[in-house]
Amino acid sequence: MTGITIALSKGRIFDETLPLLAAAGIVPVENPETSRKLIIGTNRDDVRVVIVRATDVPTYVQYGAADLGVAGKDVLIEHGGEGLYQPLDLNIAKCRMMVAVPEGFDYARAVRQGARLKVASKYIRTAREHFAAKGVHVDLIKLYGSMELAPLAGLADAIVDLVSTGGTLKANKLVAVEEIMPISSRLVVNQAALKLKRETLAPILDAFANAVKKD
Ligand code: ATP
Ligand code: MG
Repeated sequence: MTGITIALSKGRIFDETLPLLAAAGIVPVENPETSRKLIIGTNRDDVRVVIVRATDVPTYVQYGAADLGVAGKDVLIEHGGEGLYQPLDLNIAKCRMMVAVPEGFDYARAVRQGARLKVASKYIRTAREHFAAKGVHVDLIKLYGSMELAPLAGLADAIVDLVSTGGTLKANKLVAVEEIMPISSRLVVNQAALKLKRETLAPILDAFANAVKKD
């Protein structure tokens, strides 16, 4: 089988990957926002797209159920990247990983005093590494969504979350106090597929590389 399967998530990653696919001559025949299909064909007989949860993209590619995928750096850090070749930063779905606290909470003082912070996040590994590097003791609380609620409900002192405009933080009376890292999405490739399907994959990777928008 020389066919290629590409794992994408719905929403901004699918939308922002479309122009890159087009540059490689690949056009999906359906839009996952309106179709309920999880396997979407393309104009090319040998290329299909599978629609998975953003956090599941690295897993599909790691095990070879997809040859290629697009995943945020946030997701790749939490996954660990085992079995994945990451040749290209696509410079799409850009945002920042931030620490945020309720307005009025003196984060700098809490950190200075060596207080033990309660931090809620979907990004446990990122949060653990960030605070460990700063020498700040934290109790990490794993959440799966709506992180902004955690400090308001008294579950945590701080959250680690993705921020783009800051609108959601503001609406919930939270402020970003520290940037952990800039985030964008990367192309991930199954390591075995890269060797076995090189002839089909190489031109796609080259087209993506040439179509990436630089800042
Ligand atoms: P769900 O919303 O279904 O729980 P998710 O939050 O993992 O899933 P998306 O919100 O589509 O999925 O985010 C997918 C990827 O896009 C994230 O992994 C991240 O890299 C990036 N992303 C998330 N939020 C933003 C944002 N506000 N602006 C830009 N990129 C973002
Ligand atoms: Mg989301």
